[in-house]
Amino acid sequence: MLTSINPYNGEKIEKFKVHSKSDVTKKLKKADKTFQDWKHVSFDRKKELMLNLADELKTNKKDYATAITKEMGKPITQAIAEIEKCAWVCEYYAENAQDQLQKDHIETDAEESYVRYDPLGVILAVMPWNYPFWQVFRFIAPAIMAGNVGVLKHASNVMRCAENIEQAILNAGFPEGCFQNLIISSKKVEQVIRDKRVKAVTLTGSKPAGSSVASIAGEEIKKSVLELGGSNALVVFEDANITETVKTCVQARFQNTGQSCIAGKRLIVQESIYEQFLEEFITQVRELKSGDPMDEDTYIGVLAREDLAIELEEQLEKSKKKGAKVVLGGKRNKAYFEPTIVINVDKKSPIFKEETFGPLIAVTSFNSDMEAIDLVNRSVFGLGVSIFTEDYERAKALIPQFEDGAVFVNDLVKSDPRLPFGGTKESGYGRELSSHGIKEFLNRKTVYINKYE
Ligand code: NAP
Repeated sequence: MLTSINPYNGEKIEKFKVHSKSDVTKKLKKADKTFQDWKHVSFDRKKELMLNLADELKTNKKDYATAITKEMGKPITQAIAEIEKCAWVCEYYAENAQDQLQKDHIETDAEESYVRYDPLGVILAVMPWNYPFWQVFRFIAPAIMAGNVGVLKHASNVMRCAENIEQAILNAGFPEGCFQNLIISSKKVEQVIRDKRVKAVTLTGSKPAGSSVASIAGEEIKKSVLELGGSNALVVFEDANITETVKTCVQARFQNTGQSCIAGKRLIVQESIYEQFLEEFITQVRELKSGDPMDEDTYIGVLAREDLAIELEEQLEKSKKKGAKVVLGGKRNKAYFEPTIVINVDKKSPIFKEETFGPLIAVTSFNSDMEAIDLVNRSVFGLGVSIFTEDYERAKALIPQFEDGAVFVNDLVKSDPRLPFGGTKESGYGRELSSHGIKEFLNRKTVYINKYE
């Protein structure tokens, strides 16, 4: 059994019977059978169903959001925003998939030569709990518009969300087998990857999980995409608009109670404005309202599980031993962790060099552009970086020097269906979203048609 527990009050919400090996095999057979028909379905029909799905999400957003909040503690208004974003990605691919997957004609000596994009088949998605709907939708919307079908191994603590996603997709009219939830533990993922019907795998999660999944996929010569952790920097230059930048940085770090791969976890401020910026930043973070995640005015909920809050506490304690000083927050109560700001951070301490998955930010300063670039790039992660400056020429000169998968200027790093999303280094490889993401799990088939005279 997998049990969902409300991290806010410890209440056991629901139990889920784990699928047996033969249940999983049956589901994979069904997926493969569905794929044989689904790959021939017209874009018009797929578009209609995908728009139904967007409507289904919008109509029932309160119910779906409540499932998120109960299972992983996300404040309800942010959970509703997550469902709305899922509807957006459905609409985006409904409108754009056909154009994105047009043949690419290439002039050669042939009568006609081009690349066409054919689906691969059953794709396994291994997903985390932090955006339990969004992570799945940003995979499944492009995958099924491209003619693939999906099976999901969701995080063990958000099985109600996983079941709801499967139901929403059925309610929209998609055939059974287009998307199925597998109620299995992570130990059973290997069996699924090795199944001959499964053609590729995508994982969003931690490095150990990514490394394990990619090794197995590698042995089987199956494609993998990995979206892993991050320790994004927020780099504030002395010519930044301080008021706006403070607001953006607070959101970048504290939304979703800090449990986001792309959160700005390291705040790096130019020395000349450091004191002023820090003061305004502390003032705004102090105002964030913690409380019951079901209350509409709560901004900081609880972490998704108590062990995650304990892990964050340990990272902080170890960093304190290296001289880090807490200027706001720092305390934990069960799964709740106070919004926390830490200064005097040694660059080798856990809160600077590891990923911190909760409402804690490590603050440091820099003097020169070169120093800022070095602080950003010394991370083992490479998901994204935000830089704040009013000097756009300076920004454009800095952009190529960062090693990350994304550079945002005067904004937080965010995922947007229209833009590719993904990392470098230990943040993973491959891209999701946009015209890039939809092509990850396709056969880019080269076609060369010669004509004898
Ligand atoms: P996690 O422990 O790696 O779990 C993610 C998923 O992988 C879950 O479904 C989990 O199942 C499964 N899993 C864990 N170990 C596995 C293994 N050895 N083999 C196969 N599957 C395995 O990560 P998490 O704690 O849920 O999520 C937080 C992490 O995800 C953070 O590092 C965060 O940065 C990252 N993340 C990255 C992105 C991105 O787009 N780059 C987005 C969101 C989150 P169980 O729950 O059953 O263990």
